[in-house]
Amino acid sequence: MSVDSQISEYYDKLLKRNAGEPEFHQAVSEVLDSLKIVLDKDPHYAEYGLVERLCEPERQLIFRVPWVDDNGEVQVNRGFRVQFNSALGPYKGGLRFHPSVNLGIIKFLGFEQIFKNSLTGLPIGGGKGGSDFDPKGKSDQEVMRFCQSFMTELHRHIGEYRDVPAGDIGVGGREIGFLFGQYRRLTTQHESGVLTGKGLTWGGSLVRTEATGFGAVYITEEMMKTHGESFDGAKVIVSGSGNVAIYAAAKAQELGATVVAMSDSSGYITTPNGVDVDLLRDVKEVRRERISTYAKEAGNGVEFHEGGNIWDVQADVALPCATQNELDGESAKKLVEGGVRYVAEGANMPSTPDAVHVFQDSKIDFAPGKAANAGGVATSALEMQQNASRDSWSFEYTDERLRGIMSNIFKNIDNTAKEYGREGDYVAGSNIAGFKKVADAMLAQGVI
Ligand code: NDP
Repeated sequence: MSVDSQISEYYDKLLKRNAGEPEFHQAVSEVLDSLKIVLDKDPHYAEYGLVERLCEPERQLIFRVPWVDDNGEVQVNRGFRVQFNSALGPYKGGLRFHPSVNLGIIKFLGFEQIFKNSLTGLPIGGGKGGSDFDPKGKSDQEVMRFCQSFMTELHRHIGEYRDVPAGDIGVGGREIGFLFGQYRRLTTQHESGVLTGKGLTWGGSLVRTEATGFGAVYITEEMMKTHGESFDGAKVIVSGSGNVAIYAAAKAQELGATVVAMSDSSGYITTPNGVDVDLLRDVKEVRRERISTYAKEAGNGVEFHEGGNIWDVQADVALPCATQNELDGESAKKLVEGGVRYVAEGANMPSTPDAVHVFQDSKIDFAPGKAANAGGVATSALEMQQNASRDSWSFEYTDERLRGIMSNIFKNIDNTAKEYGREGDYVAGSNIAGFKKVADAMLAQGVI
């Protein structure tokens, strides 16, 4: 059978066995597409059911999360943890709390996480979890009661050598604190390495908060260097205004760029003179308010565009840092017409397949999420190293490690793309480099 028909057969089977999970299908389809050239060149990767095993999670947990709201009413949410692949190390990947969460979303994120974690070069497997709970508009007490209930079930399945969750959309320092407190209470152990993204006085790592956004900028810088360019003087769009977006904007500006637009799910702001990062952090992280509040308070030419499309704005660099499928083919065309030359995905799968094709056809340098946002999980792994050695590293040292990891990821995906005759195709480079390391480990460990 030709490699093409072999891959089509895998994919058809996957669609049937995982019906109603479009995001998972999309993530798998993109990786399988890149694997065609690998299986052609190295047919042993098609043996021992390797590709089918890779697409099937090792374990999928779904559980009830009951909690009591401030009015004394019982609320019931659904919790998930998908332990996708532990060939390289303990499962590692965030928890997402957002009303859109379902099994398919968690599987797509867990699948991506396998390759991303492999690319970091650190010994971590792939997993992801979360809940359809919406922290937005909830009191701190409600969030705490939810987190305690969530962890009451989850604690049986995690551990520093088993599965190490972190944050994602809707899960930041506050939630990690409540989750860790309940884990400690249930297990009677201060097992720091069980969660990452912890507070700095109880096992957290400096730079973890900034890492995903900083990392996305560092890898973009590497792409720019190959054309003799830099962030200095560049105009940058950063979508979203959460954890990843804030620190991507901060680092881009520190390197001399002007961030000209940011967003949240209600609309976007144009910021022709750049973003005031201190004010943005106060509005979003401290007061937990909307981006429209930032627009009201910032002055300096800032305008809020309710319900608008952030990709209408002209820029040299686009960093989508909000959520999956937020940038479609039409928006990609607008960005290209507006002169964009570099796109790096701070979020997971923010570009639709159509958008990716537009960027690739237009020869835009495009770094996919599994490489571009790997700085977050890499720094989580550095947090685990510090926990294991009862140490805490300085901001400068940790940031230097992060920068080195992002630079190595770029070299790896660039060289891999070249090796497979796809120079400049960082999607293929990321998928293939991420795959080969996991695949070699799985083959060495037998059919399990
Ligand atoms: P946050 O919850 O801190 O911020 C998310 C941002 O995205 C908010 O501005 C939010 O706006 C916006 N957003 C969320 N859902 C939607 C939606 N359906 N439509 C439009 N906007 C939306 O999350 P993070 O910054 O942590 O995560 C952002 C992305 O980065 C996700 O794809 C995540 O998986 C990925 N990522 C995060 C990592 C991390 O370390 N945190 C690591 C690697 C990847 P609003 O407030 O209006 O909902």
